[in-house]
Amino acid sequence: MLDSLLEILRCPACVAGNPGADENTGLLYRDGDFLVCRTCGARYPLIDGIPDMTLAGETDAES
Ligand SMILES: [Zn+2]
Repeated sequence: MLDSLLEILRCPACVAGNPGADENTGLLYRDGDFLVCRTCGARYPLIDGIPDMTLAGETDAES
């Protein structure tokens, strides 16, 4: 199931507001319990096998 998700999911940090994004922009691969963006390196945690695609890399708020 995750493999098919990886075919359709793209890194939101890369494709959001990027009209030049193509099908290869923001491709993700699995690294342990994370999905990692091939384009920008953003890491999205897998929670029970479901990727959390919130823009963690876009927020500076650590508190
Ligand atoms: Zn990205």
